[in-house]
Formats: sequence, C-alpha cells, structure tokens
Amino acid sequence: CPKERSTKMGRIIAIANQKGGVGKTTTAINLSASLASLGKKVLAIDMDPQGNMSSGLGVDKNEVEKTVYDLIIGNIGIEECIYEEVIENLDVLPSNIDLSAAEIELIGVDNKEYILRDEVNKVKEKYDFIIIDCPPALSMLTINAMTTSDSVLVPIQCEYYALEGLSQLIHTIELVQERLNPELEIEGVVFTMYDARTNLSLQVVENVKDNLNQNIYKTIIPRNVRLAEAPSYGMPINLYDPKSKGTESYLLLAEEVINKGEE
Ligand code: ADP
Ligand code: MG
Repeated sequence: CPKERSTKMGRIIAIANQKGGVGKTTTAINLSASLASLGKKVLAIDMDPQGNMSSGLGVDKNEVEKTVYDLIIGNIGIEECIYEEVIENLDVLPSNIDLSAAEIELIGVDNKEYILRDEVNKVKEKYDFIIIDCPPALSMLTINAMTTSDSVLVPIQCEYYALEGLSQLIHTIELVQERLNPELEIEGVVFTMYDARTNLSLQVVENVKDNLNQNIYKTIIPRNVRLAEAPSYGMPINLYDPKSKGTESYLLLAEEVINKGEE
C-alpha cells in the first residue's frame, strides 16, 4: 500500500514556491537540521543552482566536485554525489551554479521529469526524511523535485502579496498529480518571517487561512535576525544559536512534520 509506505521510511518533502525570498531555503536548511537533531536520518537535496542550501549546511558550493548537475545529466550515480554526515544524521546532495545549465542540456531527453526520482529511489531506504530545496521557478528542476516527492511544503512569507502566485503553484502541483506523480500531496503551508509587532503579519495569516483550503502548520516561523545570519557561518540555526527563537520554531515545525507522518 503506497500510502502506508510514504508515512514510514524515506518520506520525501519538496520545499517549493516559485516566489523568491519567501523562506524556502531557510526552511529547507533548518527543517533538515532540526529533523536530524531529533534523531532522524536526513538527506538534504539542493535543487537550486544558487546552492544556498548547500553552503548554509556547511558544504562549500565552490569546492564541491560532484553535484546534482552531474546526476541530472547522467554523469554519475547518486551515491557518488552525497556528502555524508555533514552534520550528525544529515547527508547533503549539493548543487552550485553548474546546475543552471541542466535545463538546456535536458532538451529532448526522454523521461527528463523523472531523472531525480530514479536516482533517489536507489538510496531512499536509508533515510527517514529527504528534504528538497527548490529554485524560485516552476522549472524542470522543480518538476523533478515534485515527481520525486511524497509531498510539497509551501513557505509563505507574511507580507502583503503573500497569496500572489499561489494559485499558479497549486495548479502546477495538480498537473504533476494528474500526469506525472499521482501520489503527490500538499504537505501544507508554513508562515515565515512573522513579525509580531505589526498588524500586517497577523492580517496575512488570517487572510490566507480564510482563502486557502490547505493544511496550515500551527508553527509559525518568526522574523529572527539569527536565522538570516546563520548561513554566512555555514551553520543551521540550531548549531549557530541553539537558544534563539529561530531554533525553537524550526524544532517545533520538525516535530509537527514528524507527527503528521505518524498520523
Ligand atoms: P527563498 O529560498 O524562498 O528565496 P530564503 O530562505 O533564501 O528564501 O530567505 C530570503 C531572505 O530572508 C534570506 O536573506 C534569509 O536569510 C532571510 N530570512 C528567511 N527567513 C527568515 C526569518 N524567519 N527571519 C529573518 N530572516 C529570514
Ligand atoms: Mg532559496
């Protein structure tokens, strides 16, 4: 029964929203690290050519030799690209700017929507969670992430245009469900960069709750400067500042994600 399997080993979650700057990468880094700190074995896959998830987890994107790009164009298998135990319990499949060429190189290639899935299938039994950071576009890279995943988690920034582009994203997810991956679910929405001092953040949360018929995580990620600082030290928030609000909130989110899978 595929439903049962997806709630046990190797639950694969894509962090997606074609809007840039909404907190995808911050969520991908810190959800991965929080799950790992709770004893889950995690693989973090960076599907964004900017490589910010890789560097934020301490993998130098300019030094790495084997990346998602090599895997996508079929140079090498997934095992060769994985950097093991970058942090305890956390493996990373990094990317860098090379990946920006992949889309072009895939023109005319058969089954290009499934390249990542076929590779991830080889290793997914080793992991409790696989977290995929998507680029800010509904591109072939994002489609590859969605065909690989059990669910999509959508970060929404608490700002005025929060709902803009969401219907496009949901439409894309529905197309993938219809044509490429019928098992794909919408994991839910996570509010990010919530500013308790403004009415706007509160209004955005209320507005999205009223207008979006999706699961919404109880945990809301606050705006926290420590979350913005951590990547330049190559550390997730729980290592950079264990006592920060950012650490606390991403741990709560990780617990919610775990509990949702066990429902
Ligand atoms: P995306 O991956 O969607 O483009 P990022 O995660 O890179 O978004 O976040 C965009 C910017 O906002 C980054 O500079 C990041 O450090 C900052 N940021 C993200 N989440 C928070 C937060 N909760 N508090 C403060 N700054 C944040
Ligand atoms: Mg990003």
